[in-house]
Amino acid sequence: MAETTYDSTNIFAKILRGEIPSHRVYEDDAVVAFMDVMPQGQGHTLVVPKAPSRNLLDADPATFGPLFAIVQKVALAVKKAFGADGVTILQFNEPASGQTVYHLHVHVIPRFEGIPLKSHSGQMEKPKVLTENAGKIRGALEN
Ligand code: AMP
Repeated sequence: MAETTYDSTNIFAKILRGEIPSHRVYEDDAVVAFMDVMPQGQGHTLVVPKAPSRNLLDADPATFGPLFAIVQKVALAVKKAFGADGVTILQFNEPASGQTVYHLHVHVIPRFEGIPLKSHSGQMEKPKVLTENAGKIRGALEN
């Protein structure tokens, strides 16, 4: 049976508490967005609510409005920042679905015609590239 309790030592909880670094592109009272360190495509961003839940299955439904408002904002920003043709939104719940970090998060991945997604939790991106891409997204969010 799947685990159902929230473990506050998960890596995104540590990022939210500022205990480990991230390439942040957005933060407000309810939501943080930062670069995925093993991107499935250029500009792959994670949008994370501050409220603790393992995933969508145990989240307070009140989380979803503010979360998805920022998912849309970040999707528009990454599309603009990278001149993408489209944007894939992914969200996984429990190990059988492919979830690997147990704090609710939504993947926002710019897409380009003819370019497939790279593997999930595949290869680490260079910090310099993540810094550059985060700067581009922050720029698009400001304009
Ligand atoms: P999921 O499988 O939906 O739980 O996705 C977790 C995502 O977090 C994967 O795409 C990983 O590449 C990404 N990830 C893991 N550790 C970190 C980290 N420290 N900072 C940013 N992204 C991470």
